Amino acid sequence: MTNIAKIANDLKNLLEYRQMMGLKEIPISKNSRQMKPDVPKSEISNLAEIRAELGDCTRCKLHEQRNNLVFGDGNPDADLMFVGEGPGFDEDKQGIPFVGRAGQLLTKIIEAMKLKRQDVYIANVVKCRPPGNRNPEPDEMDTCFPFLEKQIAAIRPKAIICLGKFAAQTLLKTATPISRLRGKMGEYNGIPVMPTYHPAFLLRNPDAKKQVWEDVQQVMKILNK
Ligand code: SF4
Repeated sequence: MTNIAKIANDLKNLLEYRQMMGLKEIPISKNSRQMKPDVPKSEISNLAEIRAELGDCTRCKLHEQRNNLVFGDGNPDADLMFVGEGPGFDEDKQGIPFVGRAGQLLTKIIEAMKLKRQDVYIANVVKCRPPGNRNPEPDEMDTCFPFLEKQIAAIRPKAIICLGKFAAQTLLKTATPISRLRGKMGEYNGIPVMPTYHPAFLLRNPDAKKQVWEDVQQVMKILNK
């Protein structure tokens, strides 16, 4: 498949998914939310520009086995953003984040927050699936993270929920284990960041759902202020 065909396929997947969710518009602009004063406006791209800049990315070795680059999905004006570590099998097939079993659980968490999935924005630290669902490696996260940073700058959410160790450690620039990070509000460029467990962890450890719900409730207080 040519580069252009792959990008076209990504866009087709995105359109089909959004149609399925009952959405008519493509997230392309981000003009309404006030930007942080220390970020020059000229340096903030909208989501379409960031996707175009990524192109058919070969910046790290994760491009070698991917089927689809998973850019992100949701409301470009979202108050709440979820950040995971990277696409899995289903996400790689569909080009959309969090659509497998863990994604279905994330959707339930979002709905429990009295939100719809299309209200929030969901992205990952790395945008291509690590082979065999292995953990993303430091060089891969370092290479891909600037694009997540641009997405966050474009969306400028009121709060970010980091799903799992890699998202939390990357955004908060720490090596502290997720078991100690979770439940404690951190900050990324002035945006409150709540680390919590990844939905895939919850599928294996359902007892941890209570802790995630406690974490999520802290974020709901920020959103409802
Ligand atoms: Fe490019 Fe990120 Fe994919 Fe690596 S993971 S190839 S940096 S889009």
